[in-house]
Amino acid sequence: MTTTQPTYVVIGNPIAHSKSPQIHALFAAQFPNHSAVEGFLYDRLLAPLDGFTAAVDAFAAAGGRGANVTVPFKEDAFRFVEGRLTSRASLAGAVNTLALRSDGLFYGDNTDGAGLISDLLRYSEIKQKKVLLLGAGGAARGALGPLKRENPSLIVVANRSLHKAELLVQSIKFGNSTELQYQVGSVGSMPLAEIQGQFDIVINSTSASLAGERLPIKKSVFAPNALAYDMMYGKAETPFLAQAREAGVELRVDGLGMLVGQAAEAFELWTGLRPDVEPVLQWMREQL
Ligand code: NDP
Repeated sequence: MTTTQPTYVVIGNPIAHSKSPQIHALFAAQFPNHSAVEGFLYDRLLAPLDGFTAAVDAFAAAGGRGANVTVPFKEDAFRFVEGRLTSRASLAGAVNTLALRSDGLFYGDNTDGAGLISDLLRYSEIKQKKVLLLGAGGAARGALGPLKRENPSLIVVANRSLHKAELLVQSIKFGNSTELQYQVGSVGSMPLAEIQGQFDIVINSTSASLAGERLPIKKSVFAPNALAYDMMYGKAETPFLAQAREAGVELRVDGLGMLVGQAAEAFELWTGLRPDVEPVLQWMREQL
């Protein structure tokens, strides 16, 4: 932390690598002299692995107003808010954003899915498209509900372990919030190697790219003019986007825009101001 107490933080462990302070500083600079960003000061907060609650309590006591939450604390944050959740955080089962309510308590939101959707929509419509979601971990859980609300004609969730894909799909079909009951098209699940059919949008939410590994999917899963989207990002082409290129896919996008998009959602939640992601994304790309 800096010597001046921040009003907003990103909490994680490790956290030194996080680009969130730069992203939020650039957002705030888009609104010079606006009262909503007066005193807006954003910093990193390293919490001990077993000390999330104590770290947030100390931050709040010192005047903290909101936080982004990253690895490995998204589920701790979900428990921390004791049910004070937006429906999308409830659906995701994880919290990546904390915001102070007027009663002095934090509530939890999850902006990852919205960040993904806003970035996807920069490249393709989702309505009436066939979507393949690869992976069934935390990122997929945050993405599935928001994806479904965009009215695709089909979503297939494919995962290395089938039972996790099935659990994820069941949670969307049979959950008890309003959003969960919203049924559009059909949603199915299958393991990666058995994927049949062609998809207009293929999203990689597995962490295989992080390990430099390719996925056992057929080239034919990509429909003509498909969008291949990897939630992972980096300076070099990711293994999944290399697979897509070799399959002839021209529209290939990494997850940097999702990162900036989820930050924009959080910034708007805190300040009521919608920042322009475009210049920030460009700056981030140059920093990779
Ligand atoms: P999790 O650990 O929760 O889930 C990992 C998923 O990847 C599981 O479905 C797992 O399958 C699958 N997987 C792991 N290794 C392999 C492999 N070698 N082959 C096939 N499948 C594999 O991770 P998250 O969901 O939190 O994150 C996933 C990815 O999304 C990461 O790359 C992360 O960086 C990225 N991400 C990007 C964000 C952004 O803003 N751009 C935001 C959040 C995440 P199984 O169930 O069989 O183990």
